[in-house]
Amino acid sequence: MSKVIAITGAARGIGFATARALKAKGATVVIGDIDEEAAKEAGDRLGVQAFTVDVTSRESFEAFLGKAETGGLDVLVNNAGIMPIGPVTAESDADARRCMDINVHGVMLGTKLALDRMLPRGHGHVINIASIAGVLPTPGLALYNASKAAVIAFTEATRLEVQERGVHVSAVLPTFTNTDLIAGTRSPKGQKNAEPEDIAAAVVALVGRPRAQVTVPAKLAAQIRLGGLFPDR
Ligand code: NAD
Repeated sequence: MSKVIAITGAARGIGFATARALKAKGATVVIGDIDEEAAKEAGDRLGVQAFTVDVTSRESFEAFLGKAETGGLDVLVNNAGIMPIGPVTAESDADARRCMDINVHGVMLGTKLALDRMLPRGHGHVINIASIAGVLPTPGLALYNASKAAVIAFTEATRLEVQERGVHVSAVLPTFTNTDLIAGTRSPKGQKNAEPEDIAAAVVALVGRPRAQVTVPAKLAAQIRLGGLFPDR
């Protein structure tokens, strides 16, 4: 795979596993994270270029993509995200804004900046890491649910807008995955959590064969299909 791929929020978790899997396939991977030290450490471990980036800042994101795209950016994985947990009445205005700023505005900004580069070339792929939480509202996760529902809708609308112009836009909907993000939460009864490598494998497959949306793991996706929610396309 001779692609240049930038991944945000890749100092750990799903982004890190995705970077490792894509590098193993031969891609030139560049990672970014707001956590400077962790990004550097992850870059050293993976043997890839690593930069500090705050996806909520146009200046910072623009600079990150500028460094990543020497040779042309083929794929951007908008992976950075946070998950506030707790009753909606307990969320401060600042917490709510922060969640929307990172999870929604960060994805919108990254998509837009990537499209600015990809559309003139008629080539490229933006992969937005959404969540099953975007289609399965859950008490205690209202903000997160809302942010991921927004990512799914934004991704689909953008996909339809640019699909005739050679650029793909896809959403990945992971289920509960064992990372720092969900430390301290309990997964739904009877459901085995996914591993970051499961989501990474889905992203690798998506890079090879673009689709509008994929829910991971597929077994749960099948249950969701039976329930009549968002089928995979
Ligand atoms: P994680 O907490 O392990 O990693 C997220 C990374 O994003 C961290 O390294 C963090 O420093 C970085 N980050 C946070 N804010 C940032 C910002 N403003 N700019 C740049 N980087 C920033 O989480 P994860 O589980 O690997 O999650 C990755 C993505 O997958 C998120 O979008 C998350 O919502 C989504 N997701 C996770 C799960 C799950 O169960 N873990 C399920 C569905 C979707």
